[in-house]
Amino acid sequence: MSEFDLIRRFFIDLGAARTDVALGVGDDCALLEIPAGQQLAVSIDTLSAGVHFFSDCEPAAVGHKALAVGLSDLAAMGAQPAWATLALTLPSAELEWIEGFSRGFAALATAHGVQLVGGDTTRGALSVTVQVHGFIPKGAAVRRSGAQVDDVICVSGTLGDAGLALRGLRAGTAVTTELRQRLEYPTPRVALGLELREIATAMIDLSDGLAGDLEHILAASNVGAKLALAQLPLSAQVAEVVAQTGDWALPLAAGDDYELCFCVPAARLDAAQTIAEQCGCAIHSIGHICAATGLEYRLNNGEQWKMTRRSFDHFAIECD
Ligand code: ADP
Ligand code: MG
Repeated sequence: MSEFDLIRRFFIDLGAARTDVALGVGDDCALLEIPAGQQLAVSIDTLSAGVHFFSDCEPAAVGHKALAVGLSDLAAMGAQPAWATLALTLPSAELEWIEGFSRGFAALATAHGVQLVGGDTTRGALSVTVQVHGFIPKGAAVRRSGAQVDDVICVSGTLGDAGLALRGLRAGTAVTTELRQRLEYPTPRVALGLELREIATAMIDLSDGLAGDLEHILAASNVGAKLALAQLPLSAQVAEVVAQTGDWALPLAAGDDYELCFCVPAARLDAAQTIAEQCGCAIHSIGHICAATGLEYRLNNGEQWKMTRRSFDHFAIECD
């Protein structure tokens, strides 16, 4: 099958059919219409086999996750997803793999009204790069730099599930389907990010882990934070690991959560909870912003907890 046949078979008409796509896959460029008064939000991510996913990972999961990580970035700015482009590097034209990949990609794209409008297909070590494009009303994006002293810090979903799944897969121990889904089929919190645009002062998506990603908000906003570890939302399995080890690095630093972390004025916390309910996605307040810089973790007994390099390294992903 030629490169062209392959593109025609698997990547034309992928995802939603959007009226703002004047010309999609097939010519030298795509031609796209940005609605008046909107800014284009753009983000790109690469997933490489052996680094970001296991080489034998099911192809639909790779397709899903390659798009999901980009949609999570759009969500973190409060952007409405619209288009994607895809650069695919394949060792060989294995039709079964490409079919599975495009199926996983298409299901998530369709669910979010995203159309694949172009890309590139080359030969080489298996690697997938996806660029996503979304719309935000001019000036309405939620940036990392807006956190204010006394804001409440919230996170969506639960933390550490993907990290625990990854650890199990690496060690060759049993991993429940539920945990594995959290690693391989992350759910980008697109609706939540959009709805929070009105009230969040700062927002980021959690790809590297709360500890590192929240630091980005703190640095950009020139503030500090105090977190109550007991308030971190954990699945039963992650809670069990933390209880056994006393080490919070799993939910704080393992990464790959693709949840949203955001700040809201305390007076808007109820509004944020209502939004979360409407979006069908739980949120939890985990601490607050303070003027003194630095990120502090408190245990239930009031003692401070410090993340050691050792616990951090234990869960850190080698390369991301
Ligand atoms: P060119 O050589 O002009 O860059 P290509 O032969 O690489 O064009 O691609 C032909 C068309 O197919 C273009 O519209 C391109 O955007 C699209 N395309 C190529 N690979 C992919 C892919 N993996 N996914 C989506 N569209 C693709
Ligand atoms: Mg060309």
